Amino acid sequence: MLHINTLRSVTSLAEAYETLVSVPGSVVLGGCGYLRLGARKIDTAIDLSRLGLDQVTMVENTVEIGAMASLRTIETHPLTSSLGNGVLRSALGHIVGVQFRNCVTIGGTVAGRYPFSDPITALVALDAKIQCYHQGVISLSAYLVSPGSKDIVEKIILPVDGRLAAFAGLRQSAVDFAVLNVAVARCGDGFRIVVGSRPGRAMRARAAETYLNRNGLDSQTVAKAGQLAGDELSFGDNARASGDYRRTVCPVLIRWTLTEVLHAD
Ligand SMILES: Cc1cc2nc3c(=O)[nH]c(=O)nc-3n(C[C@H](O)[C@H](O)[C@H](O)COP(=O)(O)OP(=O)(O)OC[C@H]3O[C@@H](n4cnc5c(N)ncnc54)[C@H](O)[C@@H]3O)c2cc1C
Repeated sequence: MLHINTLRSVTSLAEAYETLVSVPGSVVLGGCGYLRLGARKIDTAIDLSRLGLDQVTMVENTVEIGAMASLRTIETHPLTSSLGNGVLRSALGHIVGVQFRNCVTIGGTVAGRYPFSDPITALVALDAKIQCYHQGVISLSAYLVSPGSKDIVEKIILPVDGRLAAFAGLRQSAVDFAVLNVAVARCGDGFRIVVGSRPGRAMRARAAETYLNRNGLDSQTVAKAGQLAGDELSFGDNARASGDYRRTVCPVLIRWTLTEVLHAD
């Protein structure tokens, strides 16, 4: 069970950050889906829910998603559900169930940098940036490989650039973590191929992207791009699958998702 000694319901991001860096044992709360797993004692919990960070808004040519927006909000909001041909809807729709997705937040998801995360894989394909209170705006790809530091995720920023995208995940059962997940995107002549749950964190397959950028997308190149990604990325073993299995499955998921993008054009 989760034990919280003091709950601090902050009224500004400045107060949240000041508390996080100055009060030993303080922790930011998202929807508490992950935090409440196992027995844990939190001395000071920082509650962001009074900061209005649960909104999805259009700002010039970007969509901004507040850190406290629930996964279900993103799945159903008109600005996010249609983005990239509905890729976020596909990535979120398999996570546990609607009640769960109504509670857990995108801020907690991104800050957790979970290697198995489905939305993170899709967000990298969409070229997401994140705005943190202290670090400012950085690309999600850079955030995933940066050393963790005490900070508050404020919002996720997505370009609205007409990109077409697709997501696929392979699971042993409907609500389990993915054995492997893949998101691809085409923006003009540029491609993104992202593979997560390897079981390491989501990573772009750069050689496969370069191959598609040079050769274009058709029924022949989808297969070759999948092979290249399977060869260039590292895959490991965990309780869900072996690295060899993941390497075998990776080209298949990439072929499926690229074919979806090809036909959505
Ligand atoms: C049983 C279960 C099954 C799941 N299955 C899947 C799945 O199949 N696919 C999938 O992609 N995901 C899955 N998840 C992960 C889930 O989707 C969320 O990503 C996860 O619960 C974190 O979101 P949260 O709002 O619950 O964050 P919390 O648990 O509240 O917080 C997570 C971490 O982020 C920090 N944090 C929270 N908000 C912020 C912020 N704004 N700034 C800085 N730090 C912050 C917290 O301090 C904590 O360290 C699962 C989770 C659970 C518990």
